[in-house]
Amino acid sequence: MTEIPYKIYLEENEMPRAWYNLRADMVNKPAPLLDPATGKPVTLEQLSAIFCSELAAQELNNTDAYIEIPQEVFEFYRMYRPSPLVRAYCLEEKLGTPAHIYYKFEGNNTSGSHKLNSAIAQAYAAKKQGLKGVTTETGAGQWGTALAMACSYLKLDCRVYMVKVSYEQKPFRREVMRTYGASVTPSPSETTEVGRKILAEHPGTGGSLGCAISEAVEAAVTSDGYRYVLGSVLNQVLLHQSIIGLETQAALQKYDIVPDIIIGCAGGGSNLGGLISPFMRDKIKGKADYRIIAVEPASCPSLTRGRYAYDFCDTGKVTPLAKMYTLGCDFIPFASHAGGLRYHGMSSILSQLYDDGLMEAVSVKQTDVFAAAVEFARVEGLLPAPESSHAIKIAIDEALKCKETGEAKNIVFGLTGTGYFDMYAYESFNNGTMTDYIPTDEELEAGFAALPKI
Ligand SMILES: *Cc1c(COP(=O)(O)O)cnc(C)c1O
Repeated sequence: MTEIPYKIYLEENEMPRAWYNLRADMVNKPAPLLDPATGKPVTLEQLSAIFCSELAAQELNNTDAYIEIPQEVFEFYRMYRPSPLVRAYCLEEKLGTPAHIYYKFEGNNTSGSHKLNSAIAQAYAAKKQGLKGVTTETGAGQWGTALAMACSYLKLDCRVYMVKVSYEQKPFRREVMRTYGASVTPSPSETTEVGRKILAEHPGTGGSLGCAISEAVEAAVTSDGYRYVLGSVLNQVLLHQSIIGLETQAALQKYDIVPDIIIGCAGGGSNLGGLISPFMRDKIKGKADYRIIAVEPASCPSLTRGRYAYDFCDTGKVTPLAKMYTLGCDFIPFASHAGGLRYHGMSSILSQLYDDGLMEAVSVKQTDVFAAAVEFARVEGLLPAPESSHAIKIAIDEALKCKETGEAKNIVFGLTGTGYFDMYAYESFNNGTMTDYIPTDEELEAGFAALPKI
């Protein structure tokens, strides 16, 4: 392996023994989280009141390039990893492209997505600290499901605040969480102060991820022996998800394949940040030059149309401030079917890389995304999640460009999960009733106007 200071891979297997922390190699580090009360960077002590101590330390660690995966977490990973890196032969043939298309498939576990990679790491940190349990929010439900699985494995209590519309529209996800022993509360709820406040101001609201985060944070800081955990956006989550990229790079190297283009969908940025991390390291060090593309929904375009500014991570403004590409924490995205991509901001790490011109971003409409999803499903035999299908759409577009130019590029994309719980979305696409919503400049301006003045 190039550039890895000690032997981190298992024999005859791509699974790494350590996560890779891209921040250590970034020239411009991501901006620190700020305490909104003082405007100063948050301290380890402050963060440890919200997050498990080990995770708070990871959040602030900009120096250690490799962080060993604890043995217990490693053993859990072995149940479903390494995840397959698949050559999409049938898709290539269908498109008639000379390009070689590869996808890293993260849907091979009951949670159906990459989120389990971080859920087990976070639950383990809580267990090691001797906590009783954790609180979190979930939108579409993938993160809540992953966390419920990790907590049941480690015998921890798991309290999930689920965005109310999803709670009502996705009863099966909710039941998977309950099957794994989690308690699930529709958000906003009467169980927290911030929930009651939001309900008083917006009676009948279906909630949002930002609201659910506020409730979960409040529930953690007011319950003894609990901490809050988050499934995306944070530096620690990108760290855990680096396993996706490390495995991908090891598998490609085994066959001497050098990617030209690396593509991933971006909600809060965790799967993309994980997938690209070792490739970005090589790019930053001048060892290779890859095109890296983030794909986001046109209905929630934080990178392509957002502002790079300090903002709250939640609607209730109870979290520290993060510098990121954001649409403003009050922005409530259109209820598109890509639930996992409906977040107003973007990981600080990816925001900095994007601002430095090290990666590109594009946005796509949901009807185009589902057309790509169906095309993929019919030839590759996998029913992709709506979120993942954003990456599929751009992978197909790039492969079609290769068809025009005759170039045999290597295209790698992240297939983050399966879409079996998203059949209402597929139904509306199949019935031809799916719509596209693209926010107007005025709507975005309203979100920017509410950005905190820093
Ligand atoms: C949550 C989720 C995403 C988006 O989250 P990121 O943190 O941006 O990776 C993408 N795909 C699936 C299947 C998800 O569950």
